[in-house]
Amino acid sequence: MMRVLVTGGRGLVGRAVKATQPKELSVEYAATDRADLRDVAACTALFESARPTHVIHLAARVGGVKANTEAVGAFYHDNILMNTNVLECARRAGVRRLVSLLSSCVYPDGAALPLQEDDLHRGEPHPSNFGYAYAKRMLEVQSRAYRQQYGCDYICVMPNNLYGPHDNFHLEDGHVVPAMIRKIHAAATGGPPPVLWGDGSPLREFTFSDDIARVLWWALTDCNEHVLNAGTSEEVSIRGAATAICNALSFDPERLIWDTTQPAGQHRKPMDTSRFRSMSKMAFTPFEQGVHETVQWYVANYPAVRGVQMA
Ligand code: NAP
Repeated sequence: MMRVLVTGGRGLVGRAVKATQPKELSVEYAATDRADLRDVAACTALFESARPTHVIHLAARVGGVKANTEAVGAFYHDNILMNTNVLECARRAGVRRLVSLLSSCVYPDGAALPLQEDDLHRGEPHPSNFGYAYAKRMLEVQSRAYRQQYGCDYICVMPNNLYGPHDNFHLEDGHVVPAMIRKIHAAATGGPPPVLWGDGSPLREFTFSDDIARVLWWALTDCNEHVLNAGTSEEVSIRGAATAICNALSFDPERLIWDTTQPAGQHRKPMDTSRFRSMSKMAFTPFEQGVHETVQWYVANYPAVRGVQMA
């Protein structure tokens, strides 16, 4: 029988994994209240009690540029410990397959575009998040080393930017889509006009959380690659993303204020997903639709949403 353990089961991706879970499976979702995975004893106890045959490893310390830069050492420390412990406990527990999630933001700074799997280690990551990036890259190194020495079937999936219900809507710790949703919603409900960073011209790929969750379920049983870029190939400008959010909130995009004294970021960072597309015909949710669903969720749950309540 297949028993699945999902680490990071209460986060943005973990909630989407739960929402898309195949009904017949026995799945345990673990978050920090179940085990602090930085602690090897707690991690070992979790594996002994859950006895998983398969693992989707999502637990991570995640944040925006500011948090990544200010706590660069803590991002390295927490993520390297969680990853090391989870993969080692999985090996000792005889887990048949483990899928972990890296991120396109850990690719080398200035890597050739579109980003390709084989370039993951060929250069330094961006200085703003090198602690997080190296800890994430070591997931691939540990998975490869364990495959070579022990025959472990560990797979690394690399998504681009993710968004969806249950995201972190904190203005400094969160990512660009939830931060814009929060600012535009505040303006649409009587607050001051939203000020957004840069000129809105950079292009990004935003994958809806339910879509990456479906990729993870597929990878747990059907994928035969060890390192795989996966996500939408739809590029949306930051201005286009803001406009989609405005449309979902019936807010006039002409009222957005673009602060061009703030950095706009790299112009494009597309990911090469041809390896994934050669194995799967999965269709991805158009950005406009995913944003509409996310905004509806935000409005229905506001102010009891992560990042707002604790701010
Ligand atoms: P998230 O919403 O912040 O969720 C992180 C999860 O990890 C939470 O359930 C959290 O537990 C758990 N966690 C954190 N520290 C832990 C610890 N010390 N011990 C045990 N569990 C711990 O993050 P997410 O966006 O879902 O990210 C999931 C994965 O996707 C991560 O590996 C991340 O690197 C990757 N990813 C995310 C994005 C993105 O845009 N969000 C993009 C690319 C890749 P609590 O719920 O108890 O806090």
